[in-house]
Amino acid sequence: MLYKEPAPIKDRENPFESMMSRFNIAAEVLGLDDETYNVLKSPTRQVIVNVPVTMDDGKVRVFEGFRVIHSNILGPSKGGIRYAPDVFLDEVKALAAWMTWKCAVVDIPYGGAKGGIVCDPYSMSSGEIERLTRAYTSSLIDIFGPDQDIPAPDMGTGPREMAWLMDEYSKLKGSTVHGVVTGKPLVLGGSLGRVEATGRGVMVSAMAAMAKLKMNPAQSTAVVQGFGNVGAWAAKLMAERGVKILGISDVSGAYWNDNGINIEEAIAYKNDHNGRLEGYKEAEKINPDELLTMNVDVLVPAAVEDVITIKNVDKIKAKLIVEGANGPTSYKADNIINEKGIMVVPDILANSGGVTVSYFEWVQNRMGFKWTLNRVNERAERIMKESFERVYAASKKYNVPMRIAAYIVAIDKVAMTYKYRGGF
Ligand code: GLU
Repeated sequence: MLYKEPAPIKDRENPFESMMSRFNIAAEVLGLDDETYNVLKSPTRQVIVNVPVTMDDGKVRVFEGFRVIHSNILGPSKGGIRYAPDVFLDEVKALAAWMTWKCAVVDIPYGGAKGGIVCDPYSMSSGEIERLTRAYTSSLIDIFGPDQDIPAPDMGTGPREMAWLMDEYSKLKGSTVHGVVTGKPLVLGGSLGRVEATGRGVMVSAMAAMAKLKMNPAQSTAVVQGFGNVGAWAAKLMAERGVKILGISDVSGAYWNDNGINIEEAIAYKNDHNGRLEGYKEAEKINPDELLTMNVDVLVPAAVEDVITIKNVDKIKAKLIVEGANGPTSYKADNIINEKGIMVVPDILANSGGVTVSYFEWVQNRMGFKWTLNRVNERAERIMKESFERVYAASKKYNVPMRIAAYIVAIDKVAMTYKYRGGF
């Protein structure tokens, strides 16, 4: 294949390389022609901006930001914006491509994009984050748009940042444009059910996979790594269906209880303690490295990339991995997972509930009409279940693991659309 491997970043596996490795396998199984392969392998557009922002101490700091549009073959590009001190271009490129595949897997009319700003939002004031968000929006005014490129929250951002983005965009355009961004606060045209949508989709995927594996949720145990918005909602909704969550973790550490963690209580604790589990006493504090290899049935990595790697994959005991995070498994770990017979519901399927409800938000904005929570949840659940079945059927048809099957479903859809649309 024509793909040239990028250099590895420090000791971390390169997420773009991880994405491309799976893409290459799926493209080969599908027999994708070289022309389409070349179109789909590289991002359509990569924008790097440097935005000056006046900090609270009066000094001006220049922040580097990215917006990568991987593809707009299926429709306007869609994807979140990440605020993190270590976000880098190859990571954003991988995340943008994953958005393309994710939207294609769930069959919504979007291409894929992702943004990032190199900053530490936890050490900045609200005013500094607001000015940074507005500056980033203004520098990307020609990129964003409800029919062009539609951002959303990702790590380090949420409804507050989306409100600033929507406001700045609207001011510069001279009229209120709700549909330029999703994940907004409810009063600003946000959708009911958007906040919990990714976690809910993870739960729906976990239930669908457990049914295939003939696992009874009420007799199963799980670990949820990452207790942010995705992990906490996934844990809560899985626990409601009877799964005993024995371990959870966040940046403050990992917590274990043989009798199961009371997730409602843990969420209440986190909400009262600055969003962190630090000092949580209802569970034993364990080594975060051990959490993923504990003896449970289901593993839900719901934090960052590359947590399941060749360093720990041998020791994993779970029968099922449901990827709430984007790219939590490095591609080098895939073979061992497959040899061990572990079923993986891959990121581009398992966490696609978020972008699905983002799509509903955008549809509601365009209609100027608000859906009930019931309608949002029912439609999202139907899409998640149908997508799971589509990927499962492809895994049987091509005799490949679920991850490669998800890429096959996605690439096939984008490639077919490209054939109709054509190039120059
Ligand atoms: N950042 C989320 C994701 O990775 C949501 C993207 C969106 O809703 O556009 O799927």
